[in-house]
Amino acid sequence: MKSYILAAPGEVECAEMPSPAPGPGEMLVDIRAALTCGTDLKTYRRGHPKIPLPSPFGHEFSGTVAAIGEGVDDFAVGDAVMAVHTAPCGECFYCAAGQENLCESIMETKVLGAFSEQILLPSHIVERNVFAKPDGLSFEEAAFLEPLACVVYGDRVQKIRPGETVVIVGAGPIGLLFLLLVKARGARGIVLGKRESRLQLARELGAELVVDVEQEVPIPLIRKLTEGRGADQVIECTGRPAVWESTLQMVRKGGRILLYGGCPGGTEVRFDTGRLHYDEIRLDGVFHFTPAAVAEARELLVSGTVDVAPLISGRYPLDELEVALERLLKGDGLKYALVPEV
Ligand SMILES: [Zn+2]
Ligand SMILES: [Zn+2]
Repeated sequence: MKSYILAAPGEVECAEMPSPAPGPGEMLVDIRAALTCGTDLKTYRRGHPKIPLPSPFGHEFSGTVAAIGEGVDDFAVGDAVMAVHTAPCGECFYCAAGQENLCESIMETKVLGAFSEQILLPSHIVERNVFAKPDGLSFEEAAFLEPLACVVYGDRVQKIRPGETVVIVGAGPIGLLFLLLVKARGARGIVLGKRESRLQLARELGAELVVDVEQEVPIPLIRKLTEGRGADQVIECTGRPAVWESTLQMVRKGGRILLYGGCPGGTEVRFDTGRLHYDEIRLDGVFHFTPAAVAEARELLVSGTVDVAPLISGRYPLDELEVALERLLKGDGLKYALVPEV
Protein backbone atom coordinates (compact mmCIF):
# COMPACT_ATOMS: atom_id res chain seq x y z
CA MET A 1 0.00 0.00 0.00
CA LYS A 2 0.97 3.61 -0.60
CA SER A 3 1.46 5.94 2.33
CA TYR A 4 2.45 9.60 2.28
CA ILE A 5 5.12 10.45 4.81
CA LEU A 6 6.03 13.94 5.95
CA ALA A 7 9.85 13.67 5.86
CA ALA A 8 10.49 17.26 6.96
CA PRO A 9 8.44 20.47 6.88
CA GLY A 10 7.35 21.03 3.29
CA GLU A 11 8.67 17.63 2.16
CA VAL A 12 6.19 14.89 1.41
CA GLU A 13 7.39 11.45 0.29
CA CYS A 14 5.40 8.55 -1.03
CA ALA A 15 6.34 5.24 0.60
CA GLU A 16 5.30 1.86 -0.75
CA MET A 17 4.92 -0.64 2.09
CA PRO A 18 3.31 -4.02 2.71
CA SER A 19 -0.28 -3.97 4.02
CA PRO A 20 -0.13 -4.52 7.79
CA ALA A 21 -1.93 -7.61 9.09
CA PRO A 22 -4.33 -6.72 11.93
CA GLY A 23 -3.53 -8.34 15.27
CA PRO A 24 -6.16 -9.25 17.90
CA GLY A 25 -8.81 -6.55 18.18
CA GLU A 26 -7.31 -4.49 15.33
CA MET A 27 -8.81 -3.40 12.02
CA LEU A 28 -7.26 -2.55 8.67
CA VAL A 29 -9.24 0.07 6.75
CA ASP A 30 -9.07 0.87 3.03
CA ILE A 31 -9.27 4.65 3.09
CA ARG A 32 -11.93 6.06 0.77
CA ALA A 33 -11.61 9.71 1.77
CA ALA A 34 -9.24 11.73 3.95
CA LEU A 35 -9.52 15.42 4.74
CA THR A 36 -6.87 18.07 5.20
CA CYS A 37 -6.98 19.78 8.58
CA GLY A 38 -5.35 22.83 10.18
CA THR A 39 -3.08 20.55 12.23
CA ASP A 40 -1.80 18.80 9.08
CA LEU A 41 -1.13 22.15 7.45
CA LYS A 42 0.69 23.49 10.50
CA THR A 43 2.82 20.32 10.62
CA TYR A 44 3.51 20.55 6.87
CA ARG A 45 4.52 24.19 7.20
CA ARG A 46 6.75 24.12 10.25
CA GLY A 47 6.64 20.71 11.98
CA HIS A 48 4.80 19.94 15.22
CA PRO A 49 6.13 19.49 18.78
CA LYS A 50 4.02 16.33 19.22
CA ILE A 51 4.73 14.80 15.80
CA PRO A 52 8.43 13.90 15.36
CA LEU A 53 9.36 13.69 11.67
CA PRO A 54 9.53 11.67 9.51
CA SER A 55 5.96 10.57 10.19
CA PRO A 56 2.87 9.46 8.33
CA PHE A 57 0.23 12.17 8.63
CA GLY A 58 -3.43 12.98 8.12
CA HIS A 59 -6.02 12.00 10.73
CA GLU A 60 -9.50 12.63 9.32
CA PHE A 61 -10.75 9.71 7.26
CA SER A 62 -13.39 7.12 6.46
CA GLY A 63 -13.27 3.91 4.46
CA THR A 64 -14.14 0.26 4.20
CA VAL A 65 -12.91 -2.62 6.34
CA ALA A 66 -10.07 -4.43 4.54
CA ALA A 67 -9.26 -6.99 7.24
CA ILE A 68 -10.06 -7.61 10.90
CA GLY A 69 -8.08 -9.21 13.68
CA GLU A 70 -9.21 -11.94 16.00
CA GLY A 71 -12.00 -10.90 18.37
CA VAL A 72 -13.49 -8.11 16.26
CA ASP A 73 -17.15 -9.13 16.12
CA ASP A 74 -19.01 -5.95 15.32
CA PHE A 75 -17.56 -5.41 11.85
CA ALA A 76 -16.93 -7.52 8.78
CA VAL A 77 -14.66 -7.13 5.76
CA GLY A 78 -16.26 -4.73 3.27
CA ASP A 79 -18.24 -2.72 5.85
CA ALA A 80 -18.16 1.04 5.36
CA VAL A 81 -16.85 2.68 8.52
CA MET A 82 -16.19 6.09 10.02
CA ALA A 83 -13.74 6.59 12.85
CA VAL A 84 -11.52 8.97 14.75
CA HIS A 85 -7.78 8.57 15.28
CA THR A 86 -7.74 8.43 19.09
CA ALA A 87 -9.47 6.71 21.97
CA PRO A 88 -8.97 6.98 25.73
CA CYS A 89 -7.40 4.10 27.69
CA GLY A 90 -10.39 3.68 30.03
CA GLU A 91 -8.10 2.99 32.99
CA CYS A 92 -6.22 6.10 34.07
CA PHE A 93 -7.26 8.69 36.68
CA TYR A 94 -8.80 11.00 34.05
CA CYS A 95 -10.73 8.22 32.35
CA ALA A 96 -12.11 7.15 35.74
CA ALA A 97 -13.06 10.77 36.44
CA GLY A 98 -15.06 10.93 33.21
CA GLN A 99 -12.56 13.36 31.64
CA GLU A 100 -11.53 10.96 28.90
CA ASN A 101 -10.40 13.78 26.61
CA LEU A 102 -7.58 14.35 29.12
CA CYS A 103 -6.63 10.64 29.30
CA GLU A 104 -2.96 10.21 30.06
CA SER A 105 -2.29 8.19 26.92
CA ILE A 106 -4.85 9.54 24.44
CA MET A 107 -2.27 11.55 22.50
CA GLU A 108 0.55 8.99 22.64
CA THR A 109 -1.71 6.26 21.28
CA LYS A 110 -3.17 8.30 18.43
CA VAL A 111 -2.94 6.98 14.88
CA LEU A 112 -1.68 9.13 12.04
CA GLY A 113 -1.53 8.17 8.39
CA ALA A 114 -4.88 9.00 6.83
CA PHE A 115 -3.02 10.19 3.72
CA SER A 116 -2.49 6.55 2.78
CA GLU A 117 -4.32 3.82 0.94
CA GLN A 118 -4.84 1.94 4.20
CA ILE A 119 -4.69 2.60 7.93
CA LEU A 120 -4.36 0.10 10.79
CA LEU A 121 -6.57 0.92 13.77
CA PRO A 122 -5.48 -0.41 17.18
CA SER A 123 -7.89 -2.28 19.43
CA HIS A 124 -8.61 0.57 21.85
CA ILE A 125 -9.89 2.68 18.92
CA VAL A 126 -11.81 -0.23 17.34
CA GLU A 127 -13.57 -0.84 20.67
CA ARG A 128 -14.80 2.69 21.22
CA ASN A 129 -14.46 5.02 18.26
CA VAL A 130 -15.24 3.11 15.06
CA PHE A 131 -18.82 3.18 13.70
CA ALA A 132 -20.73 1.89 10.72
CA LYS A 133 -21.14 4.47 7.95
CA PRO A 134 -24.64 4.51 6.47
CA ASP A 135 -25.02 4.67 2.67
CA GLY A 136 -26.72 8.07 2.79
CA LEU A 137 -23.57 9.74 4.09
CA SER A 138 -20.68 10.09 1.62
CA PHE A 139 -17.18 9.00 2.62
CA GLU A 140 -16.05 12.63 2.49
CA GLU A 141 -18.83 13.75 4.83
CA ALA A 142 -18.15 10.80 7.15
CA ALA A 143 -14.51 11.89 7.40
CA PHE A 144 -15.74 14.99 9.26
CA LEU A 145 -16.37 12.80 12.31
CA GLU A 146 -13.12 13.89 14.00
CA PRO A 147 -13.30 17.68 13.59
CA LEU A 148 -17.03 17.66 14.37
CA ALA A 149 -16.35 15.63 17.54
CA CYS A 150 -13.98 18.42 18.67
CA VAL A 151 -16.72 21.00 18.11
CA VAL A 152 -19.41 18.86 19.78
CA TYR A 153 -17.15 18.40 22.80
CA GLY A 154 -16.89 22.21 23.04
CA ASP A 155 -20.69 22.34 23.03
CA ARG A 156 -20.87 19.74 25.80
CA VAL A 157 -18.61 21.86 27.99
CA GLN A 158 -20.36 25.12 27.18
CA LYS A 159 -23.83 24.65 25.71
CA ILE A 160 -24.94 26.62 22.69
CA ARG A 161 -28.46 27.70 23.66
CA PRO A 162 -31.44 28.33 21.36
CA GLY A 163 -32.21 31.97 20.72
CA GLU A 164 -28.87 33.23 21.97
CA THR A 165 -26.34 35.28 20.02
CA VAL A 166 -23.01 33.55 19.57
CA VAL A 167 -19.89 35.24 18.23
CA ILE A 168 -17.51 32.87 16.46
CA VAL A 169 -14.03 34.30 16.10
CA GLY A 170 -12.25 32.67 13.16
CA ALA A 171 -13.81 31.54 9.87
CA GLY A 172 -11.63 28.46 9.32
CA PRO A 173 -12.98 24.90 9.18
CA ILE A 174 -13.56 24.75 12.95
CA GLY A 175 -15.21 28.17 13.15
CA LEU A 176 -17.55 27.22 10.32
CA LEU A 177 -18.33 23.84 11.91
CA PHE A 178 -19.28 25.77 15.06
CA LEU A 179 -21.49 27.98 12.90
CA LEU A 180 -23.29 24.89 11.57
CA LEU A 181 -23.88 23.72 15.15
CA VAL A 182 -25.01 27.19 16.26
CA LYS A 183 -27.59 27.14 13.46
CA ALA A 184 -28.64 23.58 14.30
CA ARG A 185 -29.20 24.63 17.92
CA GLY A 186 -31.41 27.54 16.89
CA ALA A 187 -28.98 30.26 17.95
CA ARG A 188 -27.79 33.35 15.98
CA GLY A 189 -24.22 33.26 14.70
CA ILE A 190 -21.91 36.23 14.20
CA VAL A 191 -18.68 35.27 12.42
CA LEU A 192 -15.48 37.32 12.59
CA GLY A 193 -12.84 36.36 10.07
CA LYS A 194 -10.51 37.39 7.31
CA ARG A 195 -10.62 35.90 3.84
CA GLU A 196 -13.51 36.93 1.63
CA SER A 197 -14.06 33.39 0.31
CA ARG A 198 -14.47 32.10 3.88
CA LEU A 199 -16.63 35.04 4.93
CA GLN A 200 -18.84 34.46 1.91
CA LEU A 201 -19.21 30.81 2.93
CA ALA A 202 -20.18 31.94 6.47
CA ARG A 203 -22.93 34.10 4.93
CA GLU A 204 -24.16 31.20 2.83
CA LEU A 205 -24.23 28.95 5.88
CA GLY A 206 -26.59 31.36 7.58
CA ALA A 207 -24.49 33.66 9.75
CA GLU A 208 -26.58 36.61 10.89
CA LEU A 209 -23.61 38.95 10.66
CA VAL A 210 -20.19 38.43 9.10
CA VAL A 211 -17.39 40.85 9.93
CA ASP A 212 -14.17 41.15 7.97
CA VAL A 213 -11.84 42.11 10.81
CA GLU A 214 -9.36 43.67 8.37
CA GLN A 215 -12.02 46.13 7.18
CA GLU A 216 -14.30 46.73 10.17
CA VAL A 217 -14.13 47.02 13.95
CA PRO A 218 -16.27 44.14 15.26
CA ILE A 219 -17.13 45.18 18.82
CA PRO A 220 -19.52 48.10 18.00
CA LEU A 221 -21.24 45.87 15.41
CA ILE A 222 -21.72 43.08 17.98
CA ARG A 223 -23.15 45.56 20.49
CA LYS A 224 -25.49 47.01 17.88
CA LEU A 225 -26.92 43.57 17.23
CA THR A 226 -27.38 42.78 20.94
CA GLU A 227 -29.02 45.99 22.22
CA GLY A 228 -25.70 47.17 23.55
CA ARG A 229 -25.16 44.16 25.82
CA GLY A 230 -22.65 42.03 23.94
CA ALA A 231 -22.96 38.41 22.86
CA ASP A 232 -24.32 35.66 25.11
CA GLN A 233 -21.44 33.41 24.10
CA VAL A 234 -18.13 33.89 22.29
CA ILE A 235 -16.28 30.97 20.73
CA GLU A 236 -12.61 31.68 20.05
CA CYS A 237 -11.17 29.57 17.21
CA THR A 238 -7.98 31.39 16.19
CA GLY A 239 -5.50 30.46 18.94
CA ARG A 240 -4.02 33.98 19.08
CA PRO A 241 -3.39 35.47 22.53
CA ALA A 242 -4.50 38.97 21.47
CA VAL A 243 -7.75 37.52 20.13
CA TRP A 244 -8.31 35.56 23.36
CA GLU A 245 -8.04 38.86 25.23
CA SER A 246 -10.39 40.69 22.86
CA THR A 247 -13.19 38.17 23.46
CA LEU A 248 -13.87 39.73 26.87
CA GLN A 249 -15.03 42.93 25.16
CA MET A 250 -17.47 41.00 22.99
CA VAL A 251 -19.37 39.15 25.71
CA ARG A 252 -22.30 40.38 27.80
CA LYS A 253 -22.59 40.40 31.58
CA GLY A 254 -23.20 36.82 32.69
CA GLY A 255 -21.97 35.54 29.33
CA ARG A 256 -19.65 32.72 28.37
CA ILE A 257 -16.40 32.47 26.46
CA LEU A 258 -15.24 29.18 25.00
CA LEU A 259 -11.50 29.18 24.36
CA TYR A 260 -11.15 26.59 21.62
CA GLY A 261 -8.10 27.72 19.63
CA GLY A 262 -4.80 26.64 21.20
CA CYS A 263 -2.19 29.42 21.46
CA PRO A 264 1.55 28.88 20.93
CA GLY A 265 3.24 27.20 23.92
CA GLY A 266 4.39 29.52 26.67
CA THR A 267 2.18 32.48 25.72
CA GLU A 268 0.17 34.32 28.37
CA VAL A 269 -2.97 36.46 28.27
CA ARG A 270 -4.37 39.27 30.43
CA PHE A 271 -8.00 39.60 31.38
CA ASP A 272 -9.74 42.43 33.26
CA THR A 273 -10.49 40.82 36.63
CA GLY A 274 -13.27 43.32 37.32
CA ARG A 275 -15.18 42.12 34.29
CA LEU A 276 -14.56 38.45 35.07
CA HIS A 277 -15.70 38.88 38.67
CA TYR A 278 -18.43 41.54 38.80
CA ASP A 279 -19.83 40.72 35.38
CA GLU A 280 -19.67 37.00 36.07
CA ILE A 281 -18.02 35.97 32.83
CA ARG A 282 -17.42 32.28 32.44
CA LEU A 283 -14.27 31.13 30.64
CA ASP A 284 -13.78 27.53 29.51
CA GLY A 285 -10.79 26.02 27.79
CA VAL A 286 -11.48 22.83 25.84
CA PHE A 287 -9.23 20.15 24.46
CA HIS A 288 -9.94 17.26 22.08
CA PHE A 289 -13.06 15.12 22.69
CA THR A 290 -14.62 12.22 24.58
CA PRO A 291 -16.22 9.08 23.08
CA ALA A 292 -19.64 10.56 23.96
CA ALA A 293 -18.83 13.59 21.79
CA VAL A 294 -17.76 11.30 18.92
CA ALA A 295 -21.05 9.38 19.16
CA GLU A 296 -23.03 12.62 19.20
CA ALA A 297 -21.06 13.98 16.22
CA ARG A 298 -21.87 10.81 14.30
CA GLU A 299 -25.59 11.27 15.05
CA LEU A 300 -25.47 14.87 13.82
CA LEU A 301 -23.83 13.76 10.56
CA VAL A 302 -26.03 10.73 9.97
CA SER A 303 -29.28 12.58 10.73
CA GLY A 304 -28.25 15.47 8.47
CA THR A 305 -28.70 17.92 11.37
CA VAL A 306 -25.25 19.22 10.49
CA ASP A 307 -24.59 19.24 6.74
CA VAL A 308 -20.84 19.47 6.24
CA ALA A 309 -20.79 19.10 2.44
CA PRO A 310 -20.42 22.87 1.79
CA LEU A 311 -17.16 22.89 3.76
CA ILE A 312 -15.37 20.68 1.21
CA SER A 313 -13.47 23.00 -1.13
CA GLY A 314 -12.58 20.29 -3.63
CA ARG A 315 -11.16 16.83 -4.08
CA TYR A 316 -7.87 15.41 -5.32
CA PRO A 317 -6.53 11.94 -5.96
CA LEU A 318 -4.27 10.95 -3.05
CA ASP A 319 -1.23 11.35 -5.32
CA GLU A 320 -1.89 15.08 -5.46
CA LEU A 321 -1.73 15.60 -1.70
CA GLU A 322 0.97 18.24 -2.10
CA VAL A 323 -1.13 20.22 -4.57
CA ALA A 324 -3.94 20.38 -2.00
CA LEU A 325 -1.57 21.37 0.81
CA GLU A 326 0.07 24.06 -1.30
CA ARG A 327 -3.33 25.52 -2.18
CA LEU A 328 -4.19 25.72 1.50
CA LEU A 329 -0.84 27.35 2.26
CA LYS A 330 -1.77 30.07 -0.23
CA GLY A 331 -5.05 30.58 1.59
CA ASP A 332 -6.98 28.99 -1.23
CA GLY A 333 -9.81 26.79 0.04
CA LEU A 334 -10.95 25.51 3.43
CA LYS A 335 -10.65 21.75 3.42
CA TYR A 336 -9.77 19.34 0.62
CA ALA A 337 -10.70 15.69 0.31
CA LEU A 338 -7.99 13.23 -0.78
CA VAL A 339 -9.31 10.16 -2.47
CA PRO A 340 -7.12 7.08 -3.07
CA GLU A 341 -7.63 5.44 -6.45
CA VAL A 342 -9.79 2.37 -5.99
ZN1 LIG B 1 -8.36 17.52 12.47
ZN1 LIG C 1 -7.07 7.11 30.23
